[in-house]
Formats: sequence, structure tokens, C-alpha cells
Amino acid sequence: MHSPIQTRAAIEDIVARVRGVAGPGEFIPLHEPEFAGNELKYVTDCIETGWVSSVGAYVDRFEAMLAEITGSPHAIATMNGTAALHIALVLAGVERGDEVLIPSLTFIATANAVSYAGGRPHFVDSSLETLGLDPVALDAYLTGIADVVGDRCVNKATGSTIRAVVPVHIFGHPVDMAPLLTVAAKWKLRVVEDAAEGLGAYRGEQHTGTLAPIGTLSFNGNKLVTTGGGGAVLTNDPEIGRRAKHLTTTARVKHRWSFEHDEVGYNYRLPNLNAALGCAQLERLDDIILRKRQLARNYLEAFAGLEGVSIVPEPEGTRSNYWLVAMLLDEPDAEYRDALLTGLNDAGLMARPVWTLMHRLAPYADCPRSPLPNAESIEARLINIPSSPQLSRSQ
Ligand SMILES: *Cc1c(COP(=O)(O)O)cnc(C)c1O
Repeated sequence: MHSPIQTRAAIEDIVARVRGVAGPGEFIPLHEPEFAGNELKYVTDCIETGWVSSVGAYVDRFEAMLAEITGSPHAIATMNGTAALHIALVLAGVERGDEVLIPSLTFIATANAVSYAGGRPHFVDSSLETLGLDPVALDAYLTGIADVVGDRCVNKATGSTIRAVVPVHIFGHPVDMAPLLTVAAKWKLRVVEDAAEGLGAYRGEQHTGTLAPIGTLSFNGNKLVTTGGGGAVLTNDPEIGRRAKHLTTTARVKHRWSFEHDEVGYNYRLPNLNAALGCAQLERLDDIILRKRQLARNYLEAFAGLEGVSIVPEPEGTRSNYWLVAMLLDEPDAEYRDALLTGLNDAGLMARPVWTLMHRLAPYADCPRSPLPNAESIEARLINIPSSPQLSRSQ
């Protein structure tokens, strides 16, 4: 290993390189929203017309814009990404007691949505290339622990149905979906894409969230674009689209005055005020993504050839949105990672480790899981660095 002096020099060098790309400033956040277009105008319009809540033209417009941008025939706006994922899992057929395969390396919303749908997360490993679900490891794991019985995948140890798998496009790097869909078909698993971090990211020609029958997006304040809080369900199936709208709007049956609700629905719709903000944000999506990709290129150049650490590049065959730029140490070394985190944050450059792996969190510690060597390696090696589009300069 390195001496303390070598370690300090390496950390100072990395801090200087990040600073060189991110530019001056006392404190540079990880990801800041940018309101440089019609945001104030549209939000003001809601207030002046009184249409701030559950009805209004901006929701329809926001959904139409999402459908256009993603190429998804149906887009249903929700009050946040977790709610969208909850409804997507219900519509994918997740029932009480079902197991749902998700990466241990994800934000807790993925696991929570499975719980809300009555399911139990079953954690699987990640790919070192995409940082998302590893289809090859998944197939090998299922071969050991599961049987296909009729049209169900059964966990031989628990006896439960493994109903679905949720690939998550981590930091906007698209999962290798074609082999994952093949593995899912072989094991009779439904697929729901968590594309919360994937707006504007593509695998081949296809937008993330549209590679499976159902996908979801998030518009939280720290995401690529924001509605304050918001999300969406994407689907190519008109019936699932209709059901998503119905379930997220209290399952109310249309009538001029009567309050009829035909099942237990949810109050998950996106308020018009938030949708107005979202419309203005989406108008500038292309520009935001261009600058995010330029920023990532700047980091990639600044770290090119440096030993011991690199910037995670977009996986082959994809167009990442580089939502959060990730720095990866060559070797797992949590102590060095923490020293580097301290160095960056002390310098006013906000830096964060990846989320604590789900299987280490109290609510999910007892859930079934595969061996997780890659997720654990990434956890001890990864640091996210300032990624706001405002930081981009062409060099
Ligand atoms: C942000 C996010 C969500 C949804 O989060 P909300 O804050 O509810 O919009 C879901 N999954 C992942 C991986 C996320 O990053």
C-alpha cells in the first residue's frame, strides 16, 4: 500500500483535477436544478389562473411531452418516482408474498416500492461495466436457487413466487437490457424498469424505461430535471396505461357529479403546479443533456491516464445522461475512499459514496440475496462528484 505521504499527494492531485473541471466556487453541490427557461412563467400561470392542484392543462402537456421525448406511447405523471414504481409493480402483477429481484446497489425507493406492492425484495448483483443488474450473474444464480413451475418462477428455498425483476439504470448508465429480457423470459419474470435516473439516456435507439413493457421515471429535485417532486409510469400497453391513470387518481369512475370509485386507488397524481415546472424543464432537456455529457467528457479527460482511479464511462452501445458522474477506485479500499471523500468535501466539492447497499439496511437485512461481490466492490470504490449541467464548459 501507499505511505501516508503518497496517499496525501494522491488525494490532493484528485481534488485538484475535480476542481479544475468543476471550476471556482466556495461550495459546489453534487447536483443543482437549473431554472433558466419558462419555469417562473408557467408556475405563475398556475397561480394566476387558480389551476394549481389535481386538474389542469400542464399535467396533460407534461405527459404528452414525456411520451414524445421517450417514445413511450403512454406516460402517466405521478407525485414522485416511488409512487410510479409502486403502481408499475402492481400492474406488472406483483402480489402479496411475491419476491422481486432488484439490485442491492440502488436507492432505497426501489426496495420500498416492492414493499408497498406487498412484495419482498430479493437482492442480486451488479455489473462492473454498467453498475446496474448483471444478467449473466442473474441467470447463473437463478439456475442454482429457482425452478420454473408452469408459468411461474419459484424460489426453491422459500417456496415463494419470484414474480418480477427490476433493472435500475444507475446514474443514467443504461443496463444491458437485451440479455436481461432473455433471462427474464427464460425464468418467467415480469420486467419493470426503474429509469428514475435515466431520463434522456438510451440503449441503442431506445430510451430507458421503454425497453420493458413498463418503466418509471423520477423528477425529484436532485434528478436531471425536476418538478419539485414527481414521477411517471411509461408503458407501451394501452390497457396498462389506462389502469395506471385510474389507480393513481383514486380509481374514480368518470361522472358529471357522482363520486364513484370502483377499487382501492391511490392519490398519486402529479399536481398541475409541479407539472408546469416540469414542462418548462423538459423544454430545455436536450440542452441540459448536452452540457451534462460535455461535463462528463471534461472529467474523463482530466482523469485520463491517472493511475488508481478512473471516471465510469457510458457502457458500450449506450448514450448515458451522466446524471451523477462516478469516480471509481481501481481497488476496493473503504478507508482510502473515505479519506478522498473528506478531501473533496473539505475543499468545498460535494462528493458522496454510493448508497449503502440495501441488504445492509435494517428494514431489508433479512431479505433473500445472491452473492454480491460486484456490488460490494463498487460500494468500496465509488465516489460521485459534482455533476450539475451548470459546471460544463467546453475545453
Ligand atoms: C430517485 C429514485 C427513485 C424515485 O425517487 P422519488 O424521490 O420518489 O422520485 C427510484 N429509484 C431510484 C434508483 C432513484 O434514484
